[in-house]
Amino acid sequence: MRAQSASGRLLKGYAVLLGVVLLFLGILFYTGLNLSFENSLHSSLESIALDLKNDELAHPQQKSSVIDPKEEFPLSPVSIEVYRFTAGKPERILFTKNMQDHRFGHSDPGFYIEEIPFVSKEDESGLLVYRAQKNGIDYLIKVAVPINKIDDTLETFTALLVFFGFVIFLVALYLGYRAIERVLSPMRNITETAATISQSNLSKRIELPKEKDEFFELAYTFNTMLDRLENAFNQARRFNASVSHELKTPLTIIRGEIDVALIRERSSKEYAEVLHSVLEETDKLQSIIETMLLLSKSDTRALKKRFRLVSLDKLVGEAIDQMRPSAVAKNIEFELRCDKVTVDAEPTLLRRAIVNLLDNAVKFSPDGSVIKVVLQKTRKGVELKIVDQGPGIPENLKEKIFEPFYRIEKKWETTTSGSGLGLSIARWIAQLHNGNIYVTSGEEGSEFVIRFSQ
Ligand code: ADP
Repeated sequence: MRAQSASGRLLKGYAVLLGVVLLFLGILFYTGLNLSFENSLHSSLESIALDLKNDELAHPQQKSSVIDPKEEFPLSPVSIEVYRFTAGKPERILFTKNMQDHRFGHSDPGFYIEEIPFVSKEDESGLLVYRAQKNGIDYLIKVAVPINKIDDTLETFTALLVFFGFVIFLVALYLGYRAIERVLSPMRNITETAATISQSNLSKRIELPKEKDEFFELAYTFNTMLDRLENAFNQARRFNASVSHELKTPLTIIRGEIDVALIRERSSKEYAEVLHSVLEETDKLQSIIETMLLLSKSDTRALKKRFRLVSLDKLVGEAIDQMRPSAVAKNIEFELRCDKVTVDAEPTLLRRAIVNLLDNAVKFSPDGSVIKVVLQKTRKGVELKIVDQGPGIPENLKEKIFEPFYRIEKKWETTTSGSGLGLSIARWIAQLHNGNIYVTSGEEGSEFVIRFSQ
């Protein structure tokens, strides 16, 4: 599935935003410039009008006269008309040459921008109608100029604005694209690596981004998730291999016994011996299968429904009673110190976990030794300690012994029975009861502790 590219969407959004911002800025610049041109035109026309008032109208005119437009004014030609009011009647007393045959329409004071054909054929013109008083006489001064130069400047400015706006747009778009790509590239990296990870190369990991940002966190979390997955997967693989091996051994023995028995006619005593041996092996098979079923039970919710308040000290007593015959056979004694403790538990399972630990303690302890069993309440919950005087457990194997089917290869292993499932079941049961099992061991003896946090 090819998802719609996030970078494409981001870039589209960025381009629209950029375009809108640039357009807005362009309009703002243009309007501002236009306004400032208009203002300066207005004040230029006003200063011409004032000059006229101060120079030309200093002495009252007797008859109309024609003046030259001001040459120095950059917007030329300047068109001027001056009226004098005598008894309320306007009389034109002053005008520029170019106004010989013309009259401005407006008589109300103000500033106008419009097309005045006789000032400029193609362009608009700016016209100022100005009322003035000099020596007690009212005058109306009209000054106009074509604004083609302003328009030309504005046009050039607009062209430059569009051109540079477009260049800025393209450059900013490219930089934005690069930035988005750079930000999203770790994401792509994660996707690509994730896509190549399969059962056969679960050890592959995502390269962590250099910067410790959200993508780093994502990649890191993804990698730790892969670590856990790989662990679980390897454990399951080892478990499967061990299961098939453990099931194969009794089956091979059964088959061998039967094959040998069938070679010739046997006495009923011999047949009974074979059947006994077969029964022993089927017991082993049955126990392995039952245990595996228990371990694979994922429906812990159903098991939790069977939880009730039970007296843990009573359970410990029952487990010790169960183990007493094998302990007596090895002349082993139990030293018991139990607080009264009640826990929320599934009693059959919990007893089984305790029996498994006691069974190991008896199995691996030398004859005539003592096994201490201590049940006590602690600040964090409840603790059950089983301390034996056996061979102890090497430091590097303290976690391994909890793996299903794991047995430490030593001489005594050949003399002790077991499938290597006892501790994994005990830990599973402890975890089901909100607890765990820990082991400490010195030169001699081991101490197994079940801790329940309550
Ligand atoms: P097993 O059926 O072999 O007892 P467990 O899972 O109960 O299987 O134990 C795994 C291995 O851990 C044992 O085979 C043994 O090597 C070691 N072990 C367990 N308990 C003890 C103990 N109390 N003292 C020494 N070694 C122990």
